[in-house]
Amino acid sequence: MTSSAAPRIALIAHDKKKDDMIALAGEYAAFLRRCTLTATGTTGGRLAAELGLTVDRKHSGPLGGDLQIGALLVEDRIDAVIFLRDPMTPQPHEPDINALVRACDVHNVACATNMATAHLVLSQLQAASAASNGEER
Ligand code: PGA
Repeated sequence: MTSSAAPRIALIAHDKKKDDMIALAGEYAAFLRRCTLTATGTTGGRLAAELGLTVDRKHSGPLGGDLQIGALLVEDRIDAVIFLRDPMTPQPHEPDINALVRACDVHNVACATNMATAHLVLSQLQAASAASNGEER
C-alpha cells in the first residue's frame, strides 16, 4: 500500500451491507472525494447517487465485478479494499469473493471485510493522506 495523497480504494458491499457502506462512506465522504474510487456496479451506483461520489463502476459482483477489482489490484492499481461481506447469506459468486480476498493476501493489499476494520483502514489512510499533504490533523 502506498502513502500516496490520493489513495485508490475499492468499495464493495453485499446487499444486506449496502446501507452500512453508505453510512461508512458518508462519514468519510470528504476524504473519499479526494481518493480514486472503484466499486462493483450496484454499490457504486448507490455511492454516486446518494453521496455524489465519483466512482469507476465495474460490473455487479455476481456478474464479475469482484474479479475485475481483483485484476486491478493484481496490477497494483488498488491500495485498499473495503469489502463489506454478508456472512449470513450464501452468495452465488462465492468463488469470485474468495478470489478477491485471496488476491489481497497474495499482493499484501489491505482488505477490510467488516465495519470495525473498515473504520481502522479508512481513518489510517485519511491520516496518512493528510500528513502527506502537510495538513493539520
Ligand atoms: P454489487 O456487487 O455492488 O453490484 O451489488 C457486490 C457483490 O455482490 O459482490
